[in-house]
Amino acid sequence: MNETVQSTLEAAPTKPIERVLGSYSSGRSGVLVVVLGGLHGNEPAGIHAARRVLATLEREQPEMRGALLALAGNTAALAQGQRFIDRDLNRMWSEDDVRIAREAGGDDCRERGEQRALLAEIEPRLAQSWSQVLFLDLHSTSAEGPPFCLVGDTLQNRRIALRLKLPVILGLEENVEGTLLGHYGEQGHVAIGVEGGRHDDPRTIDHHESVLWTVLVTAGLLVEADLPEYARHRARLETAGAGPPAVLELLHRHAVEPGDGFRMEPGFVNFQPVEHGELRAGADGGQRIEAPRAGVLLMPLYQGQGQDGFFLGRRVRPFWLHLSTLLRRLRLGTRLQPAAGRAPRGRPPRRARGRPPRRALPLARALPPVRLPQGASRGRARLLHAQGGAAEAMSPMCLMSPMNPRRLAAASLAAALTIACSSASDGLRVLVPTVERAPETATAGFDHSHARWTALLREHVRPDGIDYRGFGKDIPAFDRYLAELQAVDRPELEGWTREQRFAFWINVYNAHVVRLIVDHYPVASIKDLGGTVFGRIWDKKIVPLPDLDPEGKGANLSLGTIEHEILRPRFKDARVHAAINCASVSCPPLLPEAFVAERLDAQLDAVMHAFVADPTRNRLDREGHTIHLSKIFDWFASDFERDAESVRAYVTKYAPADPKWIAGAKVKYRDYSWKLNDAAEK
Ligand SMILES: [Zn+2]
Repeated sequence: MNETVQSTLEAAPTKPIERVLGSYSSGRSGVLVVVLGGLHGNEPAGIHAARRVLATLEREQPEMRGALLALAGNTAALAQGQRFIDRDLNRMWSEDDVRIAREAGGDDCRERGEQRALLAEIEPRLAQSWSQVLFLDLHSTSAEGPPFCLVGDTLQNRRIALRLKLPVILGLEENVEGTLLGHYGEQGHVAIGVEGGRHDDPRTIDHHESVLWTVLVTAGLLVEADLPEYARHRARLETAGAGPPAVLELLHRHAVEPGDGFRMEPGFVNFQPVEHGELRAGADGGQRIEAPRAGVLLMPLYQGQGQDGFFLGRRVRPFWLHLSTLLRRLRLGTRLQPAAGRAPRGRPPRRARGRPPRRALPLARALPPVRLPQGASRGRARLLHAQGGAAEAMSPMCLMSPMNPRRLAAASLAAALTIACSSASDGLRVLVPTVERAPETATAGFDHSHARWTALLREHVRPDGIDYRGFGKDIPAFDRYLAELQAVDRPELEGWTREQRFAFWINVYNAHVVRLIVDHYPVASIKDLGGTVFGRIWDKKIVPLPDLDPEGKGANLSLGTIEHEILRPRFKDARVHAAINCASVSCPPLLPEAFVAERLDAQLDAVMHAFVADPTRNRLDREGHTIHLSKIFDWFASDFERDAESVRAYVTKYAPADPKWIAGAKVKYRDYSWKLNDAAEK
């Protein structure tokens, strides 16, 4: 244990703390990093870390592109060593609260003055011309556990956060209203929160210090070569953050009201797995609080003040992060003009009162069946940033440069793509607006947004598979969707655009595969449903669309007919093989939203990109100079060769960064698992 650290930590509460801890710059333009410590008064570690970094900068005088500004948060509460005096300063950044603070007038609580003082330091600096502004908010927890990072899920937040090598938790701002990071994140700034460890653990200061150096380098303010200690800081974070999953999403917040008498049972730590129904806490009056679902426990409350009893999170797999990155990048075309938040052309952000904002939400969080507490989404709007679309491989500085014209063109070309919004009603997810109007020219009858199907998919498709049991609980809704499909007759279908028909048939196929499994659940494999030894499930006429029988005989359709007589030959697009799902482990995963005509091209691109990049299905082994491909590429080689000359060329087209080597690689095909792609029961 570092004794100097220990003594400053102990000394902290008794010393009055200045608002501006310090700043540093070499007078060069670049990125502004605003670091905050002690937004909660019992969490002074960030302040000590910022002071250490500032002292080093003053001593070493490295050249900085941009500027660092370090601020103390709740100075009054810091002096008392408690979380807050009257109100939690980190829950006062809703639009209304910030407006109140900006208006002249008496303070309604002690924290209002703190907030006003912070605004007075921050706002004038935001008006200067920075290539980017990054907020880093340093906190600590009352429970034991490794440090971690909390971000709203934008691509630019993610990219910086992932570089810290600490576990990254996505979705705090949807779960907690009125945080400072939420406020500045909404304005388009990078906003990273770090929980450095337990409040009184000296290592918490070390972690924060290493985080700050890493951010300064990653965001391009400093160069590694100027920092002899940098490798040590990187190693420190890597060690400290090892263990928990790399990325988690927040699923649940247990809200605590003042006077609840909430008491966490002793002994719980951050990242501890908990089971559904497991007793986690008690409250006054003998009330028992249970975890409403299985997950990873985060930030259990072991202190007197605070409105968050505990959070539950869940691991996000790399595949879904990748897919959501792709989808969000593709959507840039329609999001270059922010819908909310910072309006670049002097247009003030506007949001209709009383109407929930349209939100762009990450796929990762969209997938799971999650319910947020009522009102959790209120007052949140998000904008996708043009800069956020930069490719993963780009250096951090690229984040800050404007989109290059080619990328811009590509983004605009993806025009059919839509806006990722969700109804804010349940606070989560995702890719399509819940109510998406069909084009006016389309037949009025059919809902081309396939909204019912999207609603079901959002609820029951998970990163680890399909929750067939959950689908089984939604039979009435499922029936309504199937009835919509069934009501389509030939004249109606023939009046549709190609994209509307293509999307329709993909959804028909997927919905009937899922329904087939649901009706026979539990089953080990779809192949078990063929009936006799020689029966093949693909040939069973289970899809009641006799009017659309391609042979005109008025018979029900089989899945095989839809795939091999409609989807493949009529639409001639091999991406369909990543879009239809055969209920098996080796299939490309089911997209957690319906395919829709107006975004079909982007959706097909995204699922094929994700499929090719998914190492559990296609392994691109550069060192071994071999691509281990899914059997799908073998079975339907003719489709891929039609679209790209060769299977290799096709894979090259959809492979992640720098795939040129694939042209000369050996091709091997992997075994195909027909095991049911059932979401693991947790
Ligand atoms: Zn805090």
